[in-house]
Amino acid sequence: MFIYTKIGYVALGGMLCAGVHGRKEAMAEQKRDYYEVLGVDKNADDAAIKKAYRALAKKYHPDMNPGDVEAEKKFKEASEAYAILSDPEKKRQYDQFGHAAFEGGAGGFGGFDFNSADFSDIFGDIFGDLFGGGRKGRGSNGPMKGANIRTSVRITFEEAVFGTDKEIELTLKDECKSCHGSGAKPGTSPETCQKCGGKGQVFTQQSFFGTVRNVQTCPECNGTGKVIKEKCSDCHGSGYIANRRKIQVSIPAGIDNGQSVRIRDKGEPGTNGGPRGDLLVEVIVGRHPIFQRQDYHIYSAVPISYAIAALGGDVVVDTVDGKVIYEVKPGTQTDTKVRLKGKGVPTLRNKEVRGDHYVTLVVQTPEKLSHEAKELLRQFDAATGDSLNAAKNVQGEKSEPKKGKGKGIFRK
Ligand SMILES: [Zn+2]
Ligand SMILES: [Zn+2]
Repeated sequence: MFIYTKIGYVALGGMLCAGVHGRKEAMAEQKRDYYEVLGVDKNADDAAIKKAYRALAKKYHPDMNPGDVEAEKKFKEASEAYAILSDPEKKRQYDQFGHAAFEGGAGGFGGFDFNSADFSDIFGDIFGDLFGGGRKGRGSNGPMKGANIRTSVRITFEEAVFGTDKEIELTLKDECKSCHGSGAKPGTSPETCQKCGGKGQVFTQQSFFGTVRNVQTCPECNGTGKVIKEKCSDCHGSGYIANRRKIQVSIPAGIDNGQSVRIRDKGEPGTNGGPRGDLLVEVIVGRHPIFQRQDYHIYSAVPISYAIAALGGDVVVDTVDGKVIYEVKPGTQTDTKVRLKGKGVPTLRNKEVRGDHYVTLVVQTPEKLSHEAKELLRQFDAATGDSLNAAKNVQGEKSEPKKGKGKGIFRK
C-alpha cells in the first residue's frame, strides 16, 4: 500500500496503487481545510477523526476504485488530513497556522512525514481484513508482503446457496530457483544502490520559505535498495518464474454475487523475505429462472388457480430444498405474499441459520374455457353477486332522473 505525500508515495504495505511522480508545486494549490476534508467538527476528538477517516479511506481507496482518478485524489486528500489531525503535535500546529504550518512558512517544520503517522493501526483495522493485512513496511526495502491477486469464478444460484468447491487455474509467480529470487546471475549478487545508499528512498531538499524535506522512492533501484549488474538468465533479472497452477477454491454456503473468497499466500511473492500476498476470488453467481435473492432471502412467484384462491387448497412450491406443499387459505387474493420460514439462503457465519423464502401467490385467470365451463361460470357469477350484469344495471339507471351521483362516468 502506498500513501501519497506531497511528492510521491510512501510504502505502507504490500499493495501498489499507482506510479510515483514528483509534484513539488502541490503546496501552491488551493487546499481544502483538513476538518472539512474529513467532514468533522474542529472540536472532534481522536475517535471521531479516526472514524471519519476510516469511512473515507474505505470508500475512496484506489484498490476499491481502480482507475478512478477522482477517488484517488479524494483518498490522498483524506489520508493527508488524517496524517495531520491524528498527530497531536501536528494538529496543534495546523490549528494555529493552518496549511502554512506545513509549507515552510511561519512555524513550519517542513513536509510532513507520513511514516510517523499512525497508519499501521488504522490500516490494519480497515484493510487488514479487506486486503490481507498489508502492514506498514519498514522503509521500502524492508520485508514487504506481496500484492494480492484478483480473479473470479462463476457459480450457479444453487452452488451459492449450498456452497461448492471449484478448481481454478492461474499463473502464479514463484521465486526463481537459479538465483533464489535475487535476479542476479548465479555466482554474483545484487549490489547496493549508489544513488540511495541502499535505503530505497531519496530525499530532496527544497528551499521555499524554509526547508522542505521530501521523500521519494529511489528511481535507480525502484525502492529495492539494490542494483543488479548481471541478470539471472532464467528469470531475466526479475527473480521470479511464472508457473501455471491449479488452485482449489472452497466456496462457502451463503456467498452472494460479488463477494470474494480469500486464499492466503496465493498472491504475488513478497519482497525482501516478506510473505506472499493473497488470492481474492470474486464469485459471480448466475441468475436462476425462478428464484431471486436479496441478502439471505429468496423470492419467487407461484401461480394458483381461481378455485384454490377461493376455496383454499394445497399447492406445490419449488424451493432450493426441493418441492414443498403449501396450504393456501380460502379467500386468498392475488399477489398475497407468504413466508416459508428457513427456506432461504444459509448465512455465511452459520449455515444452520437461514433466511426465508417469500412466495407471491398469483391468481391465474383462465384464458381458454370450454362451453360447459363458461356456462358453469355464468351460473357461479349469478350466485355470487351477478357481476356480469352489474354494468347493465347502471346503464339502466342512467336514463332515470339523477340524484347527483355517477353523472357521466358510464357514458356510452
Ligand atoms: Zn533468476
Ligand atoms: Zn536506489
